[in-house]
Amino acid sequence: MKVIERIKKSNGNPMFSFEIIPPLKGNDIQTIYNSIDPLLPFNPSFINVTYHREEFTYKQREKGYLEKISMRKRPGTVAICAAIYNKYKIDTVPHLICGGFNKEETENALIDLQFLGIRNVLALRGDPIKTESHFLPTQGGHSYAVELVSQIASMNKGVYLDEDIKGATPTDFSIGVAGYPEKHFESPNMAVDMKYLKDKIDAGAEYIITQLFFDNQKFFKFVEKCREYGIHVPILPGIKPITQLKHITFMPKFFHVELPETLTHELLKCKSDQQVMQTGVDWAVQQSRELLAAGMPGIHYFTMGRSEAVSQILKQAW
Ligand code: FAD
Repeated sequence: MKVIERIKKSNGNPMFSFEIIPPLKGNDIQTIYNSIDPLLPFNPSFINVTYHREEFTYKQREKGYLEKISMRKRPGTVAICAAIYNKYKIDTVPHLICGGFNKEETENALIDLQFLGIRNVLALRGDPIKTESHFLPTQGGHSYAVELVSQIASMNKGVYLDEDIKGATPTDFSIGVAGYPEKHFESPNMAVDMKYLKDKIDAGAEYIITQLFFDNQKFFKFVEKCREYGIHVPILPGIKPITQLKHITFMPKFFHVELPETLTHELLKCKSDQQVMQTGVDWAVQQSRELLAAGMPGIHYFTMGRSEAVSQILKQAW
């Protein structure tokens, strides 16, 4: 079922969903199942699977030569989505990004998804790859997520890239997009970010999943701002528990979010990894309780391949 239909049919009962990342190349699909199994008792509404584009590395060769190698370290997004649906009959949401795809490759990826019976896509731009200082679109590809949303929305109307294709079968995707309670790091301010978020909705996106955040007040303000800017689609808050001390610096650096002082204060007092995880879980439990009490349509958890912390949060907050 499409995510948007699930939200509409939930009748105010909040939905639990989560995101997983494909395993590193060389690992078995069982690693994915191992991270899903502990969360099954909580009846997930859908599972997102992230997309990871190529990275460039240098390999030492004979006589000191360095060879530049392009490699996707975590392939398999579409296959994982199909495998999860096949095994558990739970709807999946593959992430589709602009980076690394030209428009025809995007079209073909969407045709694969349609043929597999996958009816959901989270449409994203993607981050710059490590060797780029800013995002560079692939030749013949999209520069911003809004363009990807438009392409999917066109296919949903039966319009493909080749204008000679007449009477094409329309695809049937529910399109989600990303939103940023603390604004996207490239945006000059929240107002500009809101304008572009609204463009994604006007182009055909039906719901928003937010970037992770640790301060609910920022999320509530973001929802208010969205409504002010005429964005009326459901907004699913994204929650990630802190599970390691290094997250204190990793989260701001990688996701451009702030950790509240009270949280860092508690984390820095911890004497063991176990205490850090407990503190992170406790914080996420409080966040979840408050979000549920505020009537959110659901909460989306980022597991990053580790379901133990999320399972503890669900036991305590739901
Ligand atoms: P956009 O909506 O295109 O916005 C990017 C920036 O450009 C923003 O600053 C925006 O304000 C600005 N902008 C938008 N449109 C225009 C325009 N027309 N003109 C000028 N400026 C514009 N990345 C991955 O690689 N793989 C994943 O699986 C993945 N999953 C994610 C899941 C979630 C829930 C979230 C929140 C993020 C995810 N990301 C993922 C990261 C995402 O790709 C990055 O945050 C990326 O930098 C922006 O993506 P976007 O879709 O929000 O881009």
